Amino acid sequence: MQSPGESKGCLYIVGTGPGNLEQMTMKAIRAIGESSYVIGNDSYLAPLQPLLGGKTVIRSSMGKEVERAKKAVELARDHVVSMVSGGDPGIYGMAGIVLEFVERSGADTRVEIVPGVTAASASASLLGSPLSGDFAVISLSDLLTPIEEIERRLKGVLSTGIPVVLYNPRSRGRPHNFAMAMEIAAEFRSADTPIGVVRNAYRDGEEIRITTLSKAGDLEDWIDMHSAVIIGGEESRIWRNGDNVKGIITPRGYHRKYVY
Ligand code: SAH
Repeated sequence: MQSPGESKGCLYIVGTGPGNLEQMTMKAIRAIGESSYVIGNDSYLAPLQPLLGGKTVIRSSMGKEVERAKKAVELARDHVVSMVSGGDPGIYGMAGIVLEFVERSGADTRVEIVPGVTAASASASLLGSPLSGDFAVISLSDLLTPIEEIERRLKGVLSTGIPVVLYNPRSRGRPHNFAMAMEIAAEFRSADTPIGVVRNAYRDGEEIRITTLSKAGDLEDWIDMHSAVIIGGEESRIWRNGDNVKGIITPRGYHRKYVY
C-alpha cells in the first residue's frame, strides 16, 4: 500500500545498449513496457519504435539533457516514466543528471537504473578481445570537461600501459581531438600498437577498422561521433590468419600461469 507522501510514480533510467533491440536487456524492455511515458533523445528512441505503441513519447535532442532530466523527474511524481539513454545510462549517460534533480527535488521518487551494454563492450566484442582485463575509458568531448583536463587524464591512463577506450573521439565541433589523442598515445605506446575503431556498433552502418598507432591518422576523416576507438595496451596484439586481420587480442595473463 502507498504510504502518505509517497509518490505513485516511478522513474526508470534505462540503458538501451548500442542501438538495436537484440542488444537490450530483458529488464530494459520490461521497464519500457511498464511505462506510460518514454522520454529521450530522438536517436535513442528510433530503434525502440516497436516498443512504444500506446505510450506518450517525449522526444528531445542532443544538448537538451538538463531540461529532459527535469521533465522526467516531474512526470515521475505521478506516472511510470522511462528515461532512455544509449548504452549504459551511468556511463556518459542520463543517470547522473537525473539523480541530481531527484536529489534536489527532495521528493521520494522511486528511481531504478537499468544497466545496458556500453559502447566499450559492444565495440570490443566486434574487435575480438581487446580489453580482456584492466582498461580505462576516456571521453574526448570537451563540452563538459576542459580539454587540458582530458589531456591530463589521457596521459595518466596511457602511462599505465592498459588499453584505453575513447568515447566521443571526433565531431564537427572538435575535429582535432582524435589526432591529439593519437599524438599523446605515441608518447607512451609503440608504433605497432593495435588501434581498433568501430563505427555504429550493432546498428545500421556498422563498420570496423583495425590498424596500428603509426597509421591511425589515415582513419581520421572517417572517424565521427558514432565511433568508439580502442587503443591497445602494452600487451595487445593484432590477431592474423595469413594475410587476414581477424581482430585484436589482449592476453589476460594465462600464459604467465599455464603452459598451453
Ligand atoms: N552511454 C553511452 C555513451 C554515450 S557517449 C554508452 O554507455 O555507450 C557517446 C559516445 O559513445 C559516442 O561518441 C561513441 O564514442 C560511443 N558510442 C555510443 N554508441 C556507440 C555505437 N553503437 N558504436 C560505436 N560507438 C558508440
